[in-house]
Order: sequence, then C-alpha cells, then structure tokens
Amino acid sequence: MHTTETFKDLLTDKLTRNLGKNIEEATDKDLYYAIASITQEEINENWLSTRRRYDEKNERQMYYISMEFLIGRLMESNLLNCGLLDICSETLRELGRDPENVYQQEADAGLGNGGLGRLAACFLDSIASLQFAGHGSGIRYRYGLFEQRIIHGNQVELPDYWLKEEYPWETRNAEEALSIHFGGEIHMHKRVDGSLEVTHKEADEVHAVPYDVPVVGYNNQVVNTLRLWSAELPAETAEILAESESKYYHHLDHMHSIEQISGFLYPDDSNYEGKELRLKQQYFLVSATIQNIIRDFKRRGKSSLKKLHEKIAIQINDTHPSLAVPELMRLLMDTEGFSWDEAWEITTKTIAYTNHTTLSEALEKWPVGMMESLLPRIFMIINEINERFCLGIYYDRPEMRDLIPEVAVIADDQVHMARLAIVGSFSVNGVAKLHTEILKKREMKPFYELYPKKFNNKTNGITHRRWLLQVNPKLSEVITDAIGSQWIAQPLKLNGLMRYSNDAPFLEKISDVKQHNKKILAQLIKERTGITVNEYSIFDVQIKRLHEYKRQLLNIFHVIYLYNEMKENPKLDLTPRTFIFAAKAAPGYHMAKEIIKLIHHVASVVNNDRTIGDKLKVIFLENYNVSLAEKIIPAAELSEQISTAGKEASGTGNMKMMMNGAMTVGTMDGANIEIFDLVGKENIFIFGLNSDQVHHHNELGDYNANAIYHTDDRVKKILDQINGGEFGSQEIEFKDIFYHILYHNDPYYVLKDFDSYIDTHEVIERNYRDQKTWQKMSVANIAYSGKFSSDRTIHEYAADIWKLKQIR
Ligand SMILES: *Cc1c(COP(=O)(O)O)cnc(C)c1O
Repeated sequence: MHTTETFKDLLTDKLTRNLGKNIEEATDKDLYYAIASITQEEINENWLSTRRRYDEKNERQMYYISMEFLIGRLMESNLLNCGLLDICSETLRELGRDPENVYQQEADAGLGNGGLGRLAACFLDSIASLQFAGHGSGIRYRYGLFEQRIIHGNQVELPDYWLKEEYPWETRNAEEALSIHFGGEIHMHKRVDGSLEVTHKEADEVHAVPYDVPVVGYNNQVVNTLRLWSAELPAETAEILAESESKYYHHLDHMHSIEQISGFLYPDDSNYEGKELRLKQQYFLVSATIQNIIRDFKRRGKSSLKKLHEKIAIQINDTHPSLAVPELMRLLMDTEGFSWDEAWEITTKTIAYTNHTTLSEALEKWPVGMMESLLPRIFMIINEINERFCLGIYYDRPEMRDLIPEVAVIADDQVHMARLAIVGSFSVNGVAKLHTEILKKREMKPFYELYPKKFNNKTNGITHRRWLLQVNPKLSEVITDAIGSQWIAQPLKLNGLMRYSNDAPFLEKISDVKQHNKKILAQLIKERTGITVNEYSIFDVQIKRLHEYKRQLLNIFHVIYLYNEMKENPKLDLTPRTFIFAAKAAPGYHMAKEIIKLIHHVASVVNNDRTIGDKLKVIFLENYNVSLAEKIIPAAELSEQISTAGKEASGTGNMKMMMNGAMTVGTMDGANIEIFDLVGKENIFIFGLNSDQVHHHNELGDYNANAIYHTDDRVKKILDQINGGEFGSQEIEFKDIFYHILYHNDPYYVLKDFDSYIDTHEVIERNYRDQKTWQKMSVANIAYSGKFSSDRTIHEYAADIWKLKQIR
C-alpha cells in the first residue's frame, strides 16, 4: 500500500531517471507520463501472470470483435482499477498540482462513434473486473472520430490525430504480425487424395501488426488484452522500394494505400455507406483476429482444432465483423484441411452475433461485384453458404419457400451482412427487451421462425466503476457512507439506498452533491462558451450523436415554445432552465447539421434576450466525446431520452444519467422501458407514442403532420418562425427543416409527440419545485440503477452465450 510519501518517491524516481527533472520542474505532461509509467509497471506483472494463467489452465476464452472501441482516457480508470487513484490524486494535490490537469494530458481515444463503441469499452472493463477470460480485438485507427468545432453555428470537422504524442498504454508486438490478402485470383486443384487445394495468386499482401492495450480488472490482478491491429506494408515489399526510382514511387503509393486501411474511423453512426475502404477495414480486422485466435489455439497445443468451439467463443459487435463467418470457414478448410461440413459445424458453434439496430439505413449490404473482386475466396464461401442455406429451406421448410428472397444471404446483387451473421452463428442477441422483441416479431421474423433458439436478449449496461465511482467521487462517497462499500462489487446493492428515501439529512447530502457538480459544470460552460448559467436552474441534458430519430429537434422545439411563452407573458412564473446539448453529426448528414445550426441560432436569440435573463439558457458544448460526457453527466438533472419509439435499440446514455441521479424524460423506447419497470411511473417522465402506435401509423399511413401544423397554434408558430428566419440572419436559413417536416410528413413524429412532450415538461417543472419529492425521485433512480451495470450484462453473456466461468 502506498502513502503520498512513497508515491512521491516513485514519481521523483521516474522523473529523474526518465527525464532528468525534479518534481518542481516537471510539467503536467511530464507528470502524466511518469504516472502512466508507474501504473504500467503495476499492470505488467499482472498482465503476464494473467496470460500465463490462461495458458496453463487452458482456459476457455472469448474474443469480442468490434470495429469500434470508444475507450476515452485510460489514466484514471487504470489508476482506479489498480487501487492507486486516490493516492495519486492526493499526492498531486500535496505537490500543489491539479490532478485533473495532469490526467487531461492524455488524448481521448475516440476509436468509436457513439453507443456501440462505448458499449464495447464498458464490456471490456466488466469482463476483466469480473475475472472472465475475454479480450477485445479492434483497429488501431491513426485518426479517431473527428474533432468537432462550431463556426457560426456550423459544424466543422477537424481530423483527430490522437497518436501525435506517444500513447503510453500500448505495446507494439511486431513479431506477432500476420498477413492479410486482398484481390488476386483463386486457383483450385484436386490433390491425389481427392481433397481440394486452394491457392491465392497475385493478391495484395498487407501486414496486420498488433498493438496491445491492457484491460485492467478492478482490484483483482486480472489484466486482459485489447489488441488493436495496424495495417503496414510487409517488410519484404518495402525492400523493393530501393530497387529503382519508378518502383520507388509506385511502392510509396502502394504503402500509403495499405496504411489507409487503419487510417481513420468512418464517422457514420447507425448509417451504412458501401465504401470499398470500409469493407477492406472489416476484412482486415476479421482476418487478423481469426488467424490470431487459431495461432494461439495451436500454440497452446492442448486439443485439436476440431474442438475450437470448446475453448473459444467469438462475439461480433453488430454486422461489421460478420466476415468472421466466411473467414473462419476459409482458414479451417483451405489451411487446416477440414471438410465443408466439419468447418461449418465448428464455425457455427463458435460465433455469436449482437444486433444493434433495426434502422434500415444502417443494415450493411455489400455489392456482389465489390466483394468478389476484393475478397474472391471469401465471396466463393459466402456463395456456398447461401446456396446451402436456401436449398435447406426449400427442402426442409417448404412452407417458407416464398420467403427465400427475403432471407437469402445474397439477393439483389448484394451480400446481406445481417443474414450472413444470423445464418453463421449460434446466438443472435438484441440489446434491450423491446429491441429483441421487435427483431423476433418484425424485422427478423422469418429467421426467428427458422432458428427460434438462437435469439436472446442481453440488455446493455455501463461500467459503474467509470460512470459513477470515477466520474462522481462525491456521490460515491455519500452512497458508501450510507450503505457501505459493497455496492462497488455488487452494484445491485445500490437498492439499499431506498431505505434512505425519507431520510432528510441523506436527501440533503444527495442534493448538495448535485449542486456541487452543477457548479463545476457551470464553470466549464463559462470557460468554454463565455455564457453564465444559473446554477439553480434545471440542468436539462441531451447528449448523444445527432440523429433525426433521437429527436433533438423536439427538444429545441420545446425551447422555442418556452421562449414564445415568455415573450407573450413576461410575468410567467417559469422555473429557470439550462438546456445543455452536445452532439456530433456525421459529416455527410445534411439534416443533422441543419439541426445543430438551428440549436445554435435559437441559443443565440434566447441567450442574448435581456427580457429572458437567466430563466432560459441554451448551451451547446462542442466536440462530444467520452471525456466531455464524464463532465456533464454528474451534473445532469433531467436526462432527455426522447427517440421515436421503436428506433433506439437500447441507449446507454440513459443509464449513465440515471446512475448519477438524473430523472429520465423519455419515450417508451429501448432501455427506457426497463428503467420505467424498475423505478415505477412516479420516478420517470414518460410521454408520446409507444412503439406499437408508431408501427401502426407507419402501416396504415394515417398520420398527417400538416393537420397538426394547421390545428396546433404553438406548432404553427414555431415552424413559421423557423421558416421565416426568426432564428437566423437570412430568411432561407431553416427551410430544409420546415419542408422536411411538412412535405415528408414528419417521419419521426416530432409534431405528433409535441403536445404530450410539452405537457410532460410542465409536470416536470411542478415536480422540481417540490425539492423534497425531486430528491426522493433522484435517490430512487440511483438506487435502482445497479441493474444497468455492465457487470450484470456480462454475467448474462458469460452464462448464456460464452459459457465462461469466473476464474479464481
Ligand atoms: C454513452 C455514450 C454514448 C451513447 O449515448 P446514447 O444516449 O445512448 O446514444 C455516445 N457517445 C458517448 C461519448 C458516450 O459516452
């Protein structure tokens, strides 16, 4: 155990040895690297012993393949999990340094778009903390998700070169590089024994070089691995560079095109674009991962590959890595000599698939031509999978023959990746109860009829270690003072807080912590935007990717409505509100960018209106990422989860804010429903259409946005203001939003839910005025949030899908 004295000695030692500096001279960056190095040393010993332990016991292992890992900063969570966070922060404070400034030296690793990538990061934390043998496999993008700047209300994207300074948590393991092949021609040749020899000629070779990042379990000496693959020119190819000038330029070009494969993260969230480079990234990740798994399995030399599924489970995060199915088939047949049937049995007992969305624009479909020329052997295997699958239905399920075009893996000249993933895996899970039901009853109904046993639900979760213990130490302390520290290992124990829901001094403490966190956020807002917000106003927060289905538009319509009310009746007794937004739009998503612009223009009118004062403020914080989320969430009082019902598969932002004592205002969608089931209707604000109602309107086509525009004066006024340039410098400013709503018939039911949303916010306001009641509600939300720890989710995956046991 360290004291601040011993930790200071360690730091001094590091700084002298690595930099020849003493503590007084050290910059925040020097301190950051010194602390990282101290932490890494702690980690390394356990990393080695964990690996050894898995090998010696021939432990069953799970690999989580994901195109995204939105891990954010690791310094604080690594310190926390090593049991060093408090002592380190205290030491820094004794030295007169602000720990925050030191930890913030780390680049926020933005290797993901949003919820899907953050989920993968939370899962890794829970897997290690619960002592499961499970690892992540992803891509080491040189550029993460773009950095967002707002200029005159417009989003501008800057490249995120997060590796410009040394990243202390990664280790390059060049000796474990693997070769990946693209393009070329496939030659088949029958051997004398009748087996098929497959050779791949004229292919482009790419090296996949692993960079390993430790995944540290909480206080348990387990360190698993997040292996991130980087694309490089094979060394032999590089040698040819020297041969002649013309070759030099040719190869330089070639090198750049290879390095592009791990060059950048595609910034589209819940949206699919058929870009060849994206397909290359997917195959690159999958091929490297599967080859690595097989190599590791053979290196252990404990059993035959025929039993791969007994020792390995592979989870694919959405369809992005679904080429894992044909790639595992390819390696088992072409390299390991298995027959089709043997390979198919192993593959379909090893791979499990998580579905993340039912949005049609997000379903991946690759053109046959592209797949065939880029991945000729993989395409042949997919073709065979498809033929066998369709024939199987034709003969075994004649009643389903008509459905073949709807379920075929290859149809309309496209490879349907979700269908490939379902056919080639033993488990298909949705990410919240409603989402899984929609998959079974609607979106994937024929597959559910074919394989009812494959389908299962695993409601998402978040790591309470990062999203409560680390980001909200004050609240954590109040909780521990009341119920002891057991909740840290067993988050369901948070429900012990319910005993305190009438305890006035306890409620007071909860409220003081929130006030403290709001004050800190108010300071950050002041620093970043220059705007002074009322620290006693309701902090009403919507932070998530910008998407029409997430309906930031409905939120800003509410703001405009309140503004109009205030202008009409300046004496209106309104509880002051601060609306806080943060959201990135995909660079090519026009409507999303228009909505960001609208939020800014409304903000500029409202915030600068002296008659409004601090009763209403609209804040947009730039560049939403994990680190910003960590600053906003502890201060949130109202959590806006207002997606069109049926569209948000789960949501995890909802869980983070609930755990920090915010109340949800939301639709009956995704995990909101499960929050509702836990806290009860008196501790959540539900409004709007439910998913069946939305579905029925869609089916019947009986919704008419225009009718609402003409009958609801509040709606008409808002839309006319937008269209008339009230919130912009020129008249044309927001015509696109206006026309989209009225002439595309408001596909996300913004107008339809408007009335119910406004009413609900009036209820919220009345509740907020009764602070005692509000505090009780807040406590109920914290108390029931334990269910949304990703520890619960991971226990379910481990028991039902991965068949992993906790190692002791
Ligand atoms: C949690 C999180 C998300 C997901 O938020 P939703 O509200 O569930 O869409 C997205 N981005 C970041 C940075 C997050 O931390």
